[in-house]
Amino acid sequence: MHELSLVNELVAECARRADGHPVAVVEVRCPAGTDADEIADAFAQLTAGGPLGGAVLRLQTVPQVLSCDCGFAGEVGPDHCAGHMVICPECARVHEAPDALELAAVELGES
Ligand SMILES: [Zn+2]
Repeated sequence: MHELSLVNELVAECARRADGHPVAVVEVRCPAGTDADEIADAFAQLTAGGPLGGAVLRLQTVPQVLSCDCGFAGEVGPDHCAGHMVICPECARVHEAPDALELAAVELGES
């Protein structure tokens, strides 16, 4: 599963930032069109039993941004996003969505 490898990197980054401390909240920005349920499932699966086991995942959806060969550059609405595909609103060319899970914040818990 594609999400799993993305979330895997994210979890590794969280662990580096936490540096052994318990993690309470992880905030992640994901582009519109990303399957939030799959991200949440992958996160739960990858953190179970580890130092991030009790962490709450907060997903913030941000607009998908596209630069197209036709000259279009900007935000693309959810109507033009489908799974890992982004469709140019100008010329309808189909692009592969960039992998863009961004770690926004890691809040450490009480230890
Ligand atoms: Zn275009």
